[in-house]
Amino acid sequence: MSYSTVVKTELCRIRPESDCCALAEAYGLLLYSRLLSEGHDTYATETKGIADLIGETMASVCGVYADVITLPKSGRNGCKYMVKIPNSEQKKLICMRFAEAGGGILDKECCVAAFLRGVFIVCGTVTEPSRDYHLEFLAGSERRCDILADTLSRAGIRGHKLQRGDRWLLYIKGADDIISLLKKMGSVYSVQSIETTKNVRDFRNNANRLVNCDQANIDRTLSASQQQCAAIRRLIEKKGYAGIPPELREIARLRLENPEMTLRDLSENLSEPITRSGVNHRLKKLMELAENQ
Ligand SMILES: [Zn+2]
Repeated sequence: MSYSTVVKTELCRIRPESDCCALAEAYGLLLYSRLLSEGHDTYATETKGIADLIGETMASVCGVYADVITLPKSGRNGCKYMVKIPNSEQKKLICMRFAEAGGGILDKECCVAAFLRGVFIVCGTVTEPSRDYHLEFLAGSERRCDILADTLSRAGIRGHKLQRGDRWLLYIKGADDIISLLKKMGSVYSVQSIETTKNVRDFRNNANRLVNCDQANIDRTLSASQQQCAAIRRLIEKKGYAGIPPELREIARLRLENPEMTLRDLSENLSEPITRSGVNHRLKKLMELAENQ
């Protein structure tokens, strides 16, 4: 079972809490399955739960009893079940039900969530979160794409329109927007699984960043230290420690014996601790002396 099917199966089990939401969910289901479009009276799916939900919704909201047919052979895209509006009279009844409701179907926030759930069930897909964060709606016409984009933006989610051939789709990127949409639609299980994946991924990214950052610091310390040690060795080769000014002798020995020490380590290991910038200043002085000798 694909990840999309798991999510949709969970969403199909949610029942709208009030009549207004039931109508909004029905509108999403029927408009985006194209069952409200002229010349369309069937919708095929690979999931029985989706076919049953459309049939039940049509009955309870529009008073129309659709046929839910099990196809003898899996059709295109592996579809096994088909919802069929019995005749044109029944289709007229369905369309009238939404025309009566007018433009107010999506006015309430609760209804927006129910509508989006209906739309996702019939035309949405979501990628397994461990692979990528990508959710898309195959809206079909540009008009349906625009209605969906508007509704999503009212829910605070940004959809991106895209034309593929003669069909329009809307996609959502990013874990946060996808999680927020799944939550709005009422998913619990899918949200948990995506949040767990996101946490693991964030943790792994942060850990990698820390390791890389530490390594970069170590590299920097070592390369600076190598240059300092080389300078100190050149000074000693010439006149021994006696050739180094007294106030720089201790730091010179400490550095030479401990090339891995950071400035902080060095400052803490001097007989009379000084600041890190003080240590840095003395090391620079040693390098200048070696260069000018
Ligand atoms: Zn509502």
